[in-house]
Amino acid sequence: MAIAVAGYDIDATIDHNYKFSAGTIMRVVARRDGQQWIPLLLYGELHVDSAFTGGAGEPLTIYRRDHHEVMWVRFPKPLMRGDTGTIRLAYHGDLIGFGSAMDRFLPPWWDQRRRELTPMMDSWTFIKETETWYPRYGFFQSFPVSLTFHTPADLKLATIGRLVSADTADQVMTTHWVSELPTDQVSFNIGKFEEFAIRDPRIPPVIVHINTEAHRTIAQLLPHLSRPEEQVGADVANSLAFFTKVFGPPLFHQYYATEIPYFHGQAFPGMIHLSWWTFMGLGREGAEEIFRAHEMAHQWWGIGVEPASYRDAWLSEGFAEFGGLWYMQMIRHDNDRYLKRLKQSREEIRRQRDKAAPIGLGWRAAESWKGNYALTTYQKGAWVLQMLRNMLLDTRTMGEERFEAMMHDFYATYRGKRATTLDFQRVVERHVGQPMDWFFNEWVYSTDVPTYTFAWKANQDSTGHGYIAHVRVRQTDVPSKFGMYVPLLITFDQGEALIRMLVIGPSSEAVVHLPAEPKKMELNPLESVLAEVKTEGWD
Ligand SMILES: [Zn+2]
Repeated sequence: MAIAVAGYDIDATIDHNYKFSAGTIMRVVARRDGQQWIPLLLYGELHVDSAFTGGAGEPLTIYRRDHHEVMWVRFPKPLMRGDTGTIRLAYHGDLIGFGSAMDRFLPPWWDQRRRELTPMMDSWTFIKETETWYPRYGFFQSFPVSLTFHTPADLKLATIGRLVSADTADQVMTTHWVSELPTDQVSFNIGKFEEFAIRDPRIPPVIVHINTEAHRTIAQLLPHLSRPEEQVGADVANSLAFFTKVFGPPLFHQYYATEIPYFHGQAFPGMIHLSWWTFMGLGREGAEEIFRAHEMAHQWWGIGVEPASYRDAWLSEGFAEFGGLWYMQMIRHDNDRYLKRLKQSREEIRRQRDKAAPIGLGWRAAESWKGNYALTTYQKGAWVLQMLRNMLLDTRTMGEERFEAMMHDFYATYRGKRATTLDFQRVVERHVGQPMDWFFNEWVYSTDVPTYTFAWKANQDSTGHGYIAHVRVRQTDVPSKFGMYVPLLITFDQGEALIRMLVIGPSSEAVVHLPAEPKKMELNPLESVLAEVKTEGWD
């Protein structure tokens, strides 16, 4: 890139009518000679009032078509390599939306409720654009940020960074925040929230912001949790503690979990936005735990370790999705639900595999492949970790120490940095103890999903004390060299044994010596491999 972003000072004012205005100082450094026009992105609803350089404050020329995000800024004279340029921009506009616009976020099957609910959402506000609400130059560059907010004292504000000061005068609260680490994920949330503080010795302090008043009103129409802040707060705290144990220490000294009137969540450094829907607690089958923990997992994956480019996005979304699943399995002590979710996504990935781009190509490829970006990046990305988790599982003790050590290592190595898929592969290789090109080629850089057709037979051995089992897996739907270690569960009258079998090529056979007669055998019983399993008779 021709320009490096060196940092921002953002001074934002939100009045009691939620009108937004800001004065932002953006510092850039030229990486090449002759940079005079610089393209920036600014949310189309924000109007620029003035633009000046730093220092003497010479006017900057701005070229921007009405309501277009793209804006060109022209410096009085070209920047030479190494020169710092300062852009002082004042702007204002319709950044914060009101509840009545909620209408479009309600699910279509709510038609009969829609008219009743919409007025009740009036107490709800939302940030319409969380990425270009301040002028941006490209993405995948991190920078230090200092933020000052002037906000009505009766509203609650959450943002990123460390709170340096807070003062209230004439019903206006002025808070000053400084990013703890360079980042490009800067946002905030504001509204008529009630504030709940979670103090738990396992984790840094967490503050939950919830629109209690809106929930009281909605409760007249819909079933709801009696104390939503407690349930949501419990998942926020428990997932923060769980990920600290399995991934490593969190980056920030305090966390916000704030409610937004959307159906999605979003994560920022030390702050997660959670859909109002999860505060209703109506999701089934562990979906709420997965959703809440997914956003928290981003504090490790996506924020703690940032993807180096769009190709590496699965290191954020796939890892967060896996984190959400893993947390749900742990907190509910429910392996069945965990396996059921994996089975559902496996079937979907399999159905879509001819239409999906490989994980390792990212969204540019996905666009030309016509969609399925989310399925690939989130679901199949999570599957890649599920497969590594199983490959590193101690089949005798069911211990997960090796997998946890690998995740700790990856996080510790790239904490506060950007990582590529290859960086992750190198860490995996250190822990598996072998080159892993084959694994990444099969599961990250291709879209194949194998079908295994499993058969077995067993006879008493010649001593008459033990048994000899023959097992066979025919593999289809993949290239001939496709290989994978696949767990096999053997059940005896008393007890069971889990072993691993290398399945490679069109047909793989193995002979297993057993101490007793096997009653049942199941290939891939723990959804350890993204594969369809069928069975057949031996002959
Ligand atoms: Zn996510």
